[in-house]
Amino acid sequence: MSTEEYAYLLPQPNPLTQPFWDAAKRHELVLQECGECGKLRHPPAGICAECGSEAIGWRTMSGRGTLYSHVVVHQTALPSWRAAVPYNIVMVTPDEAPEIRLYGNVIDFDDSKLKVGLSLVAAFDDATSDDTIIRWRVADADV
Ligand SMILES: [Zn+2]
Repeated sequence: MSTEEYAYLLPQPNPLTQPFWDAAKRHELVLQECGECGKLRHPPAGICAECGSEAIGWRTMSGRGTLYSHVVVHQTALPSWRAAVPYNIVMVTPDEAPEIRLYGNVIDFDDSKLKVGLSLVAAFDDATSDDTIIRWRVADADV
């Protein structure tokens, strides 16, 4: 599907976030890390809040995480999303950085069974020929 045909919102990368989206396209979850002290951070930033360094690196994550919080949307102001309700929005803590929260959706799962603490794995949705969106699946052990 082309970007023009996709009905929903797509990533709008900037120079700081482009490596995150490039990795998603390779079906990898990466987080930005400080090039000096190694502290992971998200969303990407130009300076480390820990040590003040402007050196930037990227670290590949396992793709495993834990459901931190969730909501189920039943009404939306976005016309193109009205056909999709109800849908969930989740916050996920990656295993390697539990202080970080990633937003996404849990797919292929009954929204009424979502609960904090579920083990999740990243799922790479090739939404268009140019855009891969990171969503989440419940890990087999928690189904
Ligand atoms: Zn640092």
